[in-house]
Amino acid sequence: MGNKNIVFDVVGTLVGYEKLYEVIEARLGPKMRAQGIEPTSMFGYMWIEVAEREYTYLSMSGAYVPYAQVFESIFWHMLWKAGIQEPRKFATSEDLAVIMEDGYKKMEMRSGAKECVQKLRGAGFTVWAFTMGDLSRVGGYFKQAGIDMPAEHLKSCDSSKIGKPDPEAYRPLLKQLSSDGSLPWFAAAHMWDVSAARRTGRIISPKVDGPFINNSYILRFNDYEYDYLIPRHDGSIVVGGARRDYYNDLGEWFGNSDDSKLMENAKGYFDGYMQRHFQGWEDSEAFTDSVWTGIMGYSSDGFPHVGAIPDKPGQFICAGFSGHGMPQVFLSAKAIATMIAKGKDVEEVDLPRLYRVSKERVNSQQEHATLSAWKRVFEQPMPKL
Ligand SMILES: Cc1cc2nc3c(=O)[nH]c(=O)nc-3n(C[C@H](O)[C@H](O)[C@H](O)COP(=O)(O)OP(=O)(O)OC[C@H]3O[C@@H](n4cnc5c(N)ncnc54)[C@H](O)[C@@H]3O)c2cc1C
Repeated sequence: MGNKNIVFDVVGTLVGYEKLYEVIEARLGPKMRAQGIEPTSMFGYMWIEVAEREYTYLSMSGAYVPYAQVFESIFWHMLWKAGIQEPRKFATSEDLAVIMEDGYKKMEMRSGAKECVQKLRGAGFTVWAFTMGDLSRVGGYFKQAGIDMPAEHLKSCDSSKIGKPDPEAYRPLLKQLSSDGSLPWFAAAHMWDVSAARRTGRIISPKVDGPFINNSYILRFNDYEYDYLIPRHDGSIVVGGARRDYYNDLGEWFGNSDDSKLMENAKGYFDGYMQRHFQGWEDSEAFTDSVWTGIMGYSSDGFPHVGAIPDKPGQFICAGFSGHGMPQVFLSAKAIATMIAKGKDVEEVDLPRLYRVSKERVNSQQEHATLSAWKRVFEQPMPKL
């Protein structure tokens, strides 16, 4: 059963800008046109877009200002940018007040928005709204359209004073709605809104002032068991490892080339991980928001195969990096590209000897190095007490 929560962005997604454009047109339309300015979809839209950027940058710099305030305050600047030499003579404070009151605050739900919400609710979804706008104005848009939006389902960035699309802004809601391990749906007209909403973290700490790690870490527990942590700028941490929970079950992972299926044994391994291992994270409420399985291609002798495939003219291979491809693939790829483009033999390119493909290596009957390593761990006699 998927997550039955859907979070809508409001202005620009459910609510359209037409009413705002209408009032700009009524107050200033002819005057603007006389100056060669298209008042609605050009001036109006530019005003909205610039306000969004200012709002976001102010939030990023730690100086959060509610969106409506930003929007109103840049009006004169926008006129000037549109080519009006003396904005305050061109428009009056009353013009601005009317545009804000009758246009901006009275924007309307797009046609079909109400039915959309009703259909989703009918299908068992709980509908949420998460806005950069203030609660009273945005709540008013729903009321005006006759859509019941309970106060507890309507959230604003004003509460945390962190603007979209900062992933921090989505965290509290994302955490609240993904407690069963599945992710809620985000619906937004802006690409950045949805992408920031969905991308938040692997392990994430929901508290705005929660702990943060600056460095990457490897936590090694014994010869064969270790995890690694890579912090990201949004405060989330990409983690890997989890051998404790799957390594002993050879059939679960060895020879498995299907990474479309999650390894069930390891699914819960990273739950509570930061709380267990890092001081200062005990009350962080950090949780795992995504888990996936990745297949690593290990060669039987532990070295990659790079070069022309024996007995298959015209076919080359560059694979088997055995979980350590990052520092090796670039120069290996350069070597193979030189072989193909310049017709060089493997001996003539810059490539470690042990990486060269050969019939002996391909046909080797030697036990797979990964299997031997596993046997050393699980099949060695227990030490006597
Ligand atoms: C969970 C996990 C953790 C890892 N951690 C590390 C690590 O910490 N350090 C490290 O060094 N390495 C690590 N690796 C290994 C590393 O990711 C690989 O060794 C490396 O990515 C191999 O690079 P590659 O270019 O050979 O292959 P890949 O990165 O796999 O690239 C192959 C590309 O080919 C594309 N492709 C496949 N079939 C086709 C097709 N028919 N047509 C067109 N395109 C196709 C694929 O989409 C992919 O983009 C890890 C791997 C996994 C899964």
